[in-house]
Amino acid sequence: MSSLNSPPTGTLHALHDRWPQAKSVDDFRANLAAVHARIAAACQRAGRDPAGVRLLPVSKTKPEDTLRLAYAAGCRMLGENKPQEAHRKWEGMRDLTDLQWSVIGHLQTNKAKLVAQCASEFQALDSLRVAEALDRRLQAEGRALDVFVQVNTSDEDSKYGLPPAEVAAFLRELPAFSAQRVKGLMTLAMFSAEAERVRACFVQLRELRDRLRNDLPSGLTLDQLSMGMSGDFEIAIEEGATVVRVGQAIFGARATPDSHYWPGGAQEEA
Ligand SMILES: *Cc1c(COP(=O)(O)O)cnc(C)c1O
Repeated sequence: MSSLNSPPTGTLHALHDRWPQAKSVDDFRANLAAVHARIAAACQRAGRDPAGVRLLPVSKTKPEDTLRLAYAAGCRMLGENKPQEAHRKWEGMRDLTDLQWSVIGHLQTNKAKLVAQCASEFQALDSLRVAEALDRRLQAEGRALDVFVQVNTSDEDSKYGLPPAEVAAFLRELPAFSAQRVKGLMTLAMFSAEAERVRACFVQLRELRDRLRNDLPSGLTLDQLSMGMSGDFEIAIEEGATVVRVGQAIFGARATPDSHYWPGGAQEEA
């Protein structure tokens, strides 16, 4: 089966027929339970405690009505890729006072104010210019933000994130930005049907974190590893993920191709 909206076949992320649209609170309850069960099974294989893995539901492209169903099913933090979309939804849903927002996509300095206003967490920090702009805006808002440093582990130009070799020097600069609390590292794996190539990206992030831990600026622990999406979160958990960012397996397939979020990213790798 295929449709006009399907990305090229042959990627783990292309199996859209697996992900029907969630249209009721019960659909969300069922999908969340199924993902939690898969997280628990992956943890068991890896000898890990499931309490050490946080599920971040990713709601990008879905309308507010749908996000409210997810909230009713228990979601209290939602991930959005685009700062404008996160800010728009935050404004429209401020009545849900305990709902928090995690921005997981690339940020340009001219959008830093949006993230400083609406987000509790930002997972795609990858430049000092953005760290500076964010800190200025956060100070002005009187807010603080949990941040993850995004690393490019797939060596694809289409993916955002710092090259692994630049992360140590980058981390040394971050204590200067006092409104940002550095929690860990984030990555997107290569889009490939070959599980071992995907796994290699996750292994690389974990090993980088372990090396960096030997020489961290004081106050920084780098405990968290955000890695794994609908198509690959079980592999990520086996390799040490503490946060998995799952959209389609909870909300249903997206019409928007992934190339909209990381140009070129979902195109190759047959
Ligand atoms: C959309 C997105 C995800 C989730 O992808 P799914 O295939 O919907 O699970 C994870 N991380 C980032 C950065 C994203 O933009």
